[in-house]
Amino acid sequence: METVKHKRRDRTGEVYGNYTITKPTGKDKEWIARCSCGKERKVINSSMCKLTYCNSCAGKIRMQKKKASNKKPEKDKLQEMKNWISPKRTKFTHEAFYKIEDSWLNQPIIGKLINEYRNTASFEIINWHESDKKALKEKNFRVVVKKRNVVEM
Ligand SMILES: [Zn+2]
Repeated sequence: METVKHKRRDRTGEVYGNYTITKPTGKDKEWIARCSCGKERKVINSSMCKLTYCNSCAGKIRMQKKKASNKKPEKDKLQEMKNWISPKRTKFTHEAFYKIEDSWLNQPIIGKLINEYRNTASFEIINWHESDKKALKEKNFRVVVKKRNVVEM
């Protein structure tokens, strides 16, 4: 314990924001931090965790953000992402069996819930009509369908 306590922590290689600590300056608790663009600065232990980018990198990032915000948001993609990330209202349970119909299916299939999203849900298919087997096999017997195409059995 005693030796650990008194040993100076070697911070070489530690990463803070865009900066990597490359070496000690020789002064107590002072280090050289190098930004990913190559710019170096001195930093003391206590301000290390505040490191983000050097000024020129920060400027570049501001420019990129400005450009990005001028672009029209891709609404559908965003919505799709939200559906996957945030399950809002739960409708299905893992215990029940569900009958799933979809335009690409010849016959309704039977599945068990894997995950539920806002407008869609994923199911593991446990029963199907022979004519749909090939299509289902390609999907590994897992499908994501709109909730309105699913009914509890
Ligand atoms: Zn930089």
